[in-house]
Amino acid sequence: MVTVGILALQGDVAEHVRALEESGARAVLVRRQSELDAVDGLVIPGGESTTMSNLLLSFGLFDPLSKKIADGMPVYGTCAGMIMLATHILDGRDDQRSFAAIDMVVRRNAFGRQVDSYEEDLFIDGIEGAPFPAVFLRAPWVESVGNDVKVLARAGNLPDGPIVAVRSGQAMATSFHPEIGSDWRFHDLFVRMIRGEA
Ligand code: GLN
Repeated sequence: MVTVGILALQGDVAEHVRALEESGARAVLVRRQSELDAVDGLVIPGGESTTMSNLLLSFGLFDPLSKKIADGMPVYGTCAGMIMLATHILDGRDDQRSFAAIDMVVRRNAFGRQVDSYEEDLFIDGIEGAPFPAVFLRAPWVESVGNDVKVLARAGNLPDGPIVAVRSGQAMATSFHPEIGSDWRFHDLFVRMIRGEA
């Protein structure tokens, strides 16, 4: 059985634990380097990316995690977690850090103040069956991606809609929150990525 960590400094951790366990993984919380060293892959949850960046630095986890990601540990970021994986952040804070795991430009709070949250059913490249119920909460979107980044979904299912799900090698990110609700197809996909099956 694979062991998947959830970065547990801040954000919606418990929902990911449940989704991962129901996807057949062992889920553990990660707050220190010894815990990080014991996982096969890591979820970076939603929350607030500037706070998460500060906490990673003050807990001494930023550099060890950066190295694990650079060495190829599978990683999946949702919402604030997507921002943490980007090479470039728009509308961020000047001192905000990120892991540059996915060659993409991400805009924070991109859907605007008037749309703090919304939900829509999205077709996801690589996920079979019915469209995925995607919940967006003060979500970022992706404004551009590098050549090695695969776009998995766009808002509105429109060919030119904002990019809201991506994968690059062993790193995946979604603007939305698949841990909310009861559809674990993203968590199942991530567990299969860790097993080398997807
Ligand atoms: N707006 C938040 C940020 O900038 C992300 C929101 C979320 O993760 N639900 O980090």
